[in-house]
Amino acid sequence: MSISKSAENLIGKAQDGKDLKRKEIIQLISLPAKYSPELFRAADTVRKEQVGDEIFLRGIIEFSNHCDRNCLYCGLRKGNASLSRYRMSEDEILATTEQIKKTGVPTVVLQSGEDSFYSQDIVCHMIERIRKETDLIITLSIGERPLSDYQAFQQAGANRYLLKHETASEELYKYLRPGCNWQNRLQCLRRLKELGFETGTGNMVGLPGQTSEILADDLLVMKLLDADMLGIGPFIAHPDTPLAGIDNDDLELVLRVIAAARLITRNTNIPATTALATLHPQGRLLALQAGANVVMPDFTPDIYKTRYDIYPGRKDVGSAVAIISKLEKDFQSIARTLLYSIGHRPGI
Ligand code: SAM
Ligand code: SF4
Repeated sequence: MSISKSAENLIGKAQDGKDLKRKEIIQLISLPAKYSPELFRAADTVRKEQVGDEIFLRGIIEFSNHCDRNCLYCGLRKGNASLSRYRMSEDEILATTEQIKKTGVPTVVLQSGEDSFYSQDIVCHMIERIRKETDLIITLSIGERPLSDYQAFQQAGANRYLLKHETASEELYKYLRPGCNWQNRLQCLRRLKELGFETGTGNMVGLPGQTSEILADDLLVMKLLDADMLGIGPFIAHPDTPLAGIDNDDLELVLRVIAAARLITRNTNIPATTALATLHPQGRLLALQAGANVVMPDFTPDIYKTRYDIYPGRKDVGSAVAIISKLEKDFQSIARTLLYSIGHRPGI
């Protein structure tokens, strides 16, 4: 069989939702560039069938840039002495959630470094107030915590939890996250799922030492965990980290992984990440045409926003409302609409 026929068959098999073997997933993300449009079209078709044309909005608040960890890739790492640190108070966080609600965005994502200052009690109190005062759907993205914390957060009213597995290679994970253990990350994800959280995982694409085999394993982990959300974004080197200067401009590869994730996991919610918009001016729009269906405007107050310096050049530093109105125009050009709604339909 010619390469073109076998490539078409492989994309067709993925589009039909048939199980792909590891070898086939490797082939899918490594197809010659001329097949990318077909791959993206297949993912876009499955996205339309499975989750529709509406783009789900999640308002993110990056409430603390303190972190007890030292991940080699991240500008918030404890060892980065040049970062000016901040913590938002509960009242500041609540005022920001009010703004999210006023804008008509149904979900808040509360994200931070792994900051032990925010004890179980502090986080629970914050969740209870947000539920009582705004009734927003609450997603937490605050890292690895003991089971008792996850239980308490859920009882307090949190609905979703985002904890990317980052890479499926235990070896690479150990190198990139000193003192951390990949099995523990997976255990946290399984616990969150068992507790009934809508659970998000995901990876970075373009990490040093990453191979297509590892990326295929990332996709298998996403499927195995039966995740509800998938955060897939490019690794972008930060100058004040040990990975400074490691170039990654492979937008195409990130889009292929997003497309493969849509084909393999079918009805998950996949954001077009800020990191993609940072890598390429059209990154977000391209992702939304290659399987993605979520955007996460950043509502962090301007005085803090630039200090949540995970990687350099983050896009969308500016008012979230202005960003949303720009997104609305962009999305009309690809016949997609933003979904504003308050309600507890799964996924929204
Ligand atoms: N501390 C929590 C954690 O690690 O899960 C949540 C905050 S962390 C800043 C959120 C995400 O940022 C991580 O899951 C990681 O994938 C991403 N990230 C960190 N450094 C990055 C970089 N240099 N390039 C791209 N993404 C990065
Ligand atoms: Fe901390 Fe998360 Fe950054 Fe690691 S990725 S240093 S845990 S904020």
